[in-house]
Amino acid sequence: MPVSDGEWSDWLGQQRVACEVRRPAKVDAAFEAVEEAVRTSRRIRAAGSGHSTSDVARPSKDAILLSLEHLALDDADWKTWLKGDLALVEPRVRPGEQLVRVAAGQTIRALNLDLAKRRLAMPNLGSYDGQSIYGAIATGTHGTGLGFGPLADQVASIEMIGVEDAGRPVVRHWRIEPTNGITDRDRFYGSSQRGRMSLVQDDEVFRSVVVGLGCFGIVTALTLRVVPAFQLRETCEVMPWSSLKTTLVTRARSAQWLDVTMLPERLDGEHWCQVTVREKRAALPHHVPLTELTPRGDARIREASSREGKDPKELVRCALAAGSHGARIATHRVRELFREDATRTIESESYVVFRTSVGDWIPATSSEIGVDVDRSVEAIDATITHLDAMAKRGFFHVSPIGIRFSRASSHYLAMQHGRDTCTIEAPIPVGNVNVHAIGSPSAADAAPILLGAFERTLIDARFDGRPHWGQRHTVSGGFLLRYPKGPIWARQVARFNRFGLFDNAFTGRMALRR
Ligand SMILES: Cc1cc2nc3c(=O)[nH]c(=O)nc-3n(C[C@H](O)[C@H](O)[C@H](O)COP(=O)(O)OP(=O)(O)OC[C@H]3O[C@@H](n4cnc5c(N)ncnc54)[C@H](O)[C@@H]3O)c2cc1C
Repeated sequence: MPVSDGEWSDWLGQQRVACEVRRPAKVDAAFEAVEEAVRTSRRIRAAGSGHSTSDVARPSKDAILLSLEHLALDDADWKTWLKGDLALVEPRVRPGEQLVRVAAGQTIRALNLDLAKRRLAMPNLGSYDGQSIYGAIATGTHGTGLGFGPLADQVASIEMIGVEDAGRPVVRHWRIEPTNGITDRDRFYGSSQRGRMSLVQDDEVFRSVVVGLGCFGIVTALTLRVVPAFQLRETCEVMPWSSLKTTLVTRARSAQWLDVTMLPERLDGEHWCQVTVREKRAALPHHVPLTELTPRGDARIREASSREGKDPKELVRCALAAGSHGARIATHRVRELFREDATRTIESESYVVFRTSVGDWIPATSSEIGVDVDRSVEAIDATITHLDAMAKRGFFHVSPIGIRFSRASSHYLAMQHGRDTCTIEAPIPVGNVNVHAIGSPSAADAAPILLGAFERTLIDARFDGRPHWGQRHTVSGGFLLRYPKGPIWARQVARFNRFGLFDNAFTGRMALRR
């Protein structure tokens, strides 16, 4: 658990900060904590599950840290607040879709299980489910498929405790939505169940706060658009990048879900790719508990490691210890696994099929950069030039590169803002060092060197890349100008964080002014 009494750390334990941890179970307790922070001029921040490896979640030393995993949803009859015709509001609730109100601090895993019992599902998900639902949304977390934006695009309403400048700081609880949002103002204010909440319906505020990076306040609940439960059928094929590149964009535009995993080292002169496609299938006729569904992904690693009697972390260390030969052997082995995968079809509940991450078994840090989908082939070519150049210097990525797609989003700081996006992710297993330095007591961590060079390759004027805010990156203040609405986002932070309560390392690095 990244939050213990008196300390916050990220999931890898690489960033640690001493702070006062509180675990409010009710909104009132969270509200009082913010009031106390105002009274005592202390910083305060909400913690998700610590899965960001950038400094976005890192609280200031001695801050009050609110860990919201126990924050329960009140039982307000919120559906009575809604407008009559939800097809006419923003975001539009399409036929078959439903709205659910959920606690912001629960994990995606808990949300998935709860939705599945109600025969509902998120329409798309990332590859992992250990994050808190709002922690994931706050950094623009996404899955793959050009028909879907980031998870933030499912938010119809967001409830947040924040501080208003009324000549002096006043703590408030807001329900925030687009200008033409789902809530009917009269019904809302006529309800005795809204507690302290007041309604803000304003496109600029909503599009700033949702992908808010923890800079606006403490998010307590979300109303999400979800769909009826469905199954996915997944198939894949293996091909060299030189073949895939000619059809990549067409494939991305025609498949509902397209996921590409590219081996970082050359084999037979090529970078090999696993190209995965998912298709929607009808839901099971009734709810089947997770324990009775066939597991996938990480389960295979667990099975392989027990069969070979090896800890996967140990395998990574072995691959590196064997130097450049090790990287080649690992590449060969993973291509074999890809080829085995290509003989199988996976079909299960959507949330089981989406969860492909092996993060629980191979701890890794990573960077991910988003580029315009129409520049994706050039950007991947540039990534390959980077991989080859680093390998010559003895720096091997070892972990495959992830290539995913998502639809343009209206949220101002989403990496997908204003453009259909291809994301290129480079994970680096913990313990990776330059192969020439193995055995030397001064062997430096390869991650900052590899990821720094990777980031510089794509965040340049040619590709206009944007980093995933939750993954390692080094951009600073002026970078926000690259987002068409970045200055508006910064202005909204200045308004909502007028008293600097939510400041941390990230707001300092980005020079967010008040
Ligand atoms: C194994 C693994 C797999 C991943 N897979 C994907 C993937 O498939 N796709 C993808 O896009 N990303 C992925 N990521 C990145 C990850 O989704 C993001 O870093 C995400 O933000 C982490 O969520 P968290 O709950 O751990 O939040 P944290 O990292 O703890 O916090 C993130 C930000 O949200 C703020 N915050 C959290 N809760 C609240 C709240 N209630 N109110 C206000 N602010 C809050 C924090 O202050 C911080 O600024 C992955 C990361 C890992 C480690």
